[in-house]
Amino acid sequence: MANLLKGKDLADKIKNNLIDEISKFKTKPKLAAVEIGENQASEVYIINQKKQADLLGIAYELIKLDGAISEKEAENNILKLNKDDSVTAIIIQLPVPKQINAKILVGMIDPSKDAESMHPSNLGKILLGDYKIGPCTAMGVMELLESTGVKLYGKEAVCVGHSEIVGKPLSLMLLSKFATTCVCHIATGERGALPGHVKNAEILIVAVGKAGLIKGEWIKEGAIVIDVGINKVGDKIVGDVEFEEAEKRASYITPVPGGVGPLTTTILMRNVVELHKASNVVA
Ligand code: NAD
Repeated sequence: MANLLKGKDLADKIKNNLIDEISKFKTKPKLAAVEIGENQASEVYIINQKKQADLLGIAYELIKLDGAISEKEAENNILKLNKDDSVTAIIIQLPVPKQINAKILVGMIDPSKDAESMHPSNLGKILLGDYKIGPCTAMGVMELLESTGVKLYGKEAVCVGHSEIVGKPLSLMLLSKFATTCVCHIATGERGALPGHVKNAEILIVAVGKAGLIKGEWIKEGAIVIDVGINKVGDKIVGDVEFEEAEKRASYITPVPGGVGPLTTTILMRNVVELHKASNVVA
């Protein structure tokens, strides 16, 4: 039976380190969150972010912009926050209303204030293997892998899903640890090639959003399985991997919920702290 990789345990450890570190700072870091219009999912994230920021000693300011705002006005708000020395880091709550191009707006954030590390310049640093901050979920997956103590060097790693927030940055992070990395996506699935790749995986990370996509019997004996997927099935939340069968074969596996999820906001806060340390403000 696999060991369970619970994100909460790891998140608590990271939070305790951050509390310690922040208590020694001369100035308090500040995260500015920009919300354009109203969105139910964003409201939940905002409550979580504020709660964690308060707990850690990070100032949190929510800037609510009108949902009918023009792209230019939204950009001006970001530029204003870039210039504000009291702001350590900026996060734009997604999704944004359709008149606004989210990629362009995220690209307007000063890379040295980019809390989610989604600016092209910060993503580029991941390509170069030279990064202290990174997209939160991908960084959370790497933390979970590291917590197992298993060396990634030369291991067969398979990422299922190639999104810009999870699969793509994660594949680069795995490569920088010298894992032999394979990325599968929709076309792999359509070609019927998914089982073959998954069966080969010593490290398997799945971020798709389809319940039961990865069959338990595909899991290699002793594999580490990180299931990022979140799916609502009836009144239950499940991942993308058939958990019960996979648990019998894997050496480590994340439960869903309770695996990667609890780490995401904590890594966001760690990014803020790293940006604070790297800024001109005396930390
Ligand atoms: P996405 O929704 O942007 O893209 C889905 C990916 O799955 C694409 O790369 C696509 O090519 C691939 N895909 C679709 N069907 C496939 C198939 N049949 N076979 C193989 N690949 C297939 O991805 P995302 O934004 O990374 O989200 C993926 C899942 O992870 C969702 O369930 C999301 O809710 C969850 N998620 C969880 C967290 C967390 O903190 N736990 C964070 C982000 C995303």
